[in-house]
Amino acid sequence: MNGLVPAEGTPLLIGGKLIPGGSGVFATINPATEEVLGYAADASAADMAAAIAAARTAFDETEWSRDPALRARCLRQLRDVLGEHLEDLRAITIAEAGAPLMLTSGPQLEGPIADLSYAADLAENYTWETDLGTRDLMGVASHRVIRREAVGVVGAITPWNFPHQINLAKLGPALAAGNTVVLKPAPDTPWCAAVLGPLIAEHTDFPAGVINIVTSSDHGLGAQLVQDPRVDMITFTGSTRTGRSVLVDASATLKRTFLELGGKSAAIVLDDADIAAAAAYTAFTVAVHAGQGCALTTRLLVPRESYDAAVTAAAGTLRGLAAGDPAQAGTVCGPLISERQRARVERYLEIARDEGGRIEVGGGRPADRERGFFIEPTLISGLDNTATVAQEEIFGPVLVVIAHDGDDDAIRLANASPYGLSGSVWGTDPDRIERVVAGVRTGTLSVNGGLWYHADAPFGGYKQSGIGREMGVAGFEEYLETKLIATPA
Ligand code: NAD
Repeated sequence: MNGLVPAEGTPLLIGGKLIPGGSGVFATINPATEEVLGYAADASAADMAAAIAAARTAFDETEWSRDPALRARCLRQLRDVLGEHLEDLRAITIAEAGAPLMLTSGPQLEGPIADLSYAADLAENYTWETDLGTRDLMGVASHRVIRREAVGVVGAITPWNFPHQINLAKLGPALAAGNTVVLKPAPDTPWCAAVLGPLIAEHTDFPAGVINIVTSSDHGLGAQLVQDPRVDMITFTGSTRTGRSVLVDASATLKRTFLELGGKSAAIVLDDADIAAAAAYTAFTVAVHAGQGCALTTRLLVPRESYDAAVTAAAGTLRGLAAGDPAQAGTVCGPLISERQRARVERYLEIARDEGGRIEVGGGRPADRERGFFIEPTLISGLDNTATVAQEEIFGPVLVVIAHDGDDDAIRLANASPYGLSGSVWGTDPDRIERVVAGVRTGTLSVNGGLWYHADAPFGGYKQSGIGREMGVAGFEEYLETKLIATPA
């Protein structure tokens, strides 16, 4: 279908070589049509072991970790070659991830490619050494220096919802910091990762083994990567449930573990806000990419006295956003990634009904779509914050409207969640807004529609939304060790 994908399917990249999978191939499906797009190499456990060995050798036996100028050059080459193949990459992203076209000019494709520049700049400009000066200890004067070094071999495990964003937001900083990487992408979006392989092997100077890409239909290869003692660090994005299992598996070798997990973020609308505008905006964001974004504000907390007005405004927005073909320029809500994911969303809609919720808009499959894993943008009212759909991550285009009784109650409800990923606050009075900002326990927060997403902005969660930060200097430093060197003064 595409200049980047060979007829026999995409290969693995292991030790600088493009190779077939030991377990054959597996199909990648277009979620908008349910058709087989094509095939990807299905790695075996032996392939994963070979990839880890290659990354280990590249870290231990090449100058990669000690040559920031080479790292910056390679990252810029990768950025440039991805830029040269932008339209092929765009077509794959829409067809494989079901990503709406409009998002590919931002975080679904062009944003993360451009952000490789930020990683390359960090490799060049980061302060690798800090002089701590001289101190006396028991009569010995010592001069101390702090040096930051790469952690070593990094296993990167990623989900399907924003494949390039998450793959590149791990590869860029991990490589810039001097690590070598084994990337294991989600089985639902193998091509988005695998097409990097030939471009890296044929158009960049990355030494063999510095980047390895292992596509597989088997989640077990992720667990294998986490358990292998030759891997020094795991960077994982995915569900909280899998994150827990990653943490348990990593404990056997006490690996550094960086986790970006799920969310159930709240949009807090104060009574001095333009309530209809805030509700409409929040509803729009929940429909984007069929709600398959971890940081979306899927709980809309509104003043009790304005509940009906907020429902009306949110419903009006969602009614105008029909789920449709992601390749069309105007589409906001594309398909869900898979039959399994649609079944999961439908189960939550059933639970909402069983618990007494009212479906104000949507609630099912769109009548005009015979094929594809589509769900209508859906608004649920009549439930409180303890309802299942208010507590659990749905990962579909579903918004729940919940009444609050004032600012403190809104903060309490926002925090009454196992998650703490993101959120928003809408209001006029700066003091009241600041009180909410200080009270909400989340890693990112938008005030009156401010956008926090950028290469220099650390992203991640409190509580069960994760451990650590991705992007920004804080994200880069996740991939660094700290060495203290003392010499007699
Ligand atoms: P998932 O947890 O099912 O899978 C994520 C990755 O983990 C896949 O590559 C999978 O193969 C691998 N995996 C599965 N079991 C494993 C195991 N036992 N050990 C190691 N690896 C294993 O998640 P998903 O369904 O692909 O993605 C959706 C989830 O990702 C949502 O919960 C969403 O909130 C979360 N997410 C979080 C962020 C964030 O930054 N916080 C961003 C995007 C998605």
